[in-house]
Amino acid sequence: MHLILGFFFYGIICCSGSHSAYAPMPRLLLVSFDGFRADYLKKYEFPHLQNFIKDGVLVEDITNAFITKTFPNHYSIVTGLYEESHGIVANEMFDAATNKTFSQFNDKDPFWWNEAVPIWVTNQLQENRTSASAMWPGSDVKIHNTTPHFFMKYDSAIGFNERVKNIIAWLNSSNPLVSFATLYWEEPDASGHKYGPEDTKNMVGVLKEVDNLIGLLVEKLKASKLWEEINVIITSDHGMAQCSPDRLIKLDDCIDRNSYTLVDKSPVAAILPKNETYVYNMLKNCSTYMKIYLKEEIPDHYHYHHNERIQPIILVADEGWTIVQNESLSRCKCIPFGCFLLA
Ligand SMILES: [Zn+2]
Repeated sequence: MHLILGFFFYGIICCSGSHSAYAPMPRLLLVSFDGFRADYLKKYEFPHLQNFIKDGVLVEDITNAFITKTFPNHYSIVTGLYEESHGIVANEMFDAATNKTFSQFNDKDPFWWNEAVPIWVTNQLQENRTSASAMWPGSDVKIHNTTPHFFMKYDSAIGFNERVKNIIAWLNSSNPLVSFATLYWEEPDASGHKYGPEDTKNMVGVLKEVDNLIGLLVEKLKASKLWEEINVIITSDHGMAQCSPDRLIKLDDCIDRNSYTLVDKSPVAAILPKNETYVYNMLKNCSTYMKIYLKEEIPDHYHYHHNERIQPIILVADEGWTIVQNESLSRCKCIPFGCFLLA
């Protein structure tokens, strides 16, 4: 038996799993519960997850990549690369050379993903190995002309049970044998955005449901005899900070919005300026709760510099602060792939 467990610095993580000493090859199921903040594990009850942890290994410190958004971090997990190297540098992107845009609603162009090779593609290049994915970001895109052998088109309306049902069926398929599979679930990110991660009254129910889903997954793996055959990692992509209408950074107070394009939004905003020097000067003293960087000045430890898709100016809000253009855009709205501000 061989178990692993992870724990995020910001978000959560963890994992477990096992494989028989006589198994022909190691097999791995990688599971992500989006936006699972690390301290949820300490503040709430997770009986199923705790059982899983007891059976495995808990990694207490995992640092997410900068920037802490869903698409970039999920691609870092499956490529082992920083965002500047794998090319998914934000949830919303613009490529000046091709005039292409990327968003959660427009993410199927392989152009965006082909700067790296995700592990499901690498796995399938090995002899007699194949991959499966239930909605991991990017897994329904033909990256390097390849998708996982088994995959689902992304559809947030498809429930966890359906995704698990497919994963179990695929892992039970012997021809070809699935040696690597991924499973993605939008919670607790969606509810964390909706209520705020510190809304204990609402989050307690959401996190209980997440725990029940982990229980369901383990139960199904055991019932199908996969539990002793595969390793399982349960992880997350990032944590989440509570925002507030009292902690807004309003760009319209500092600069005319016609002088730039807001490519990606808070808490790390990507700015494409018409005149770089002008926009930088207008924004550099806009708020004491926001840092502004010219692309070439972004600190090395962020590993967020060497990519054409990183815009000429980025704004980084302090934790708990939200960058908006004006107050009418200040309501937090939450959807599966990130936190957005309602117009
Ligand atoms: Zn996320």
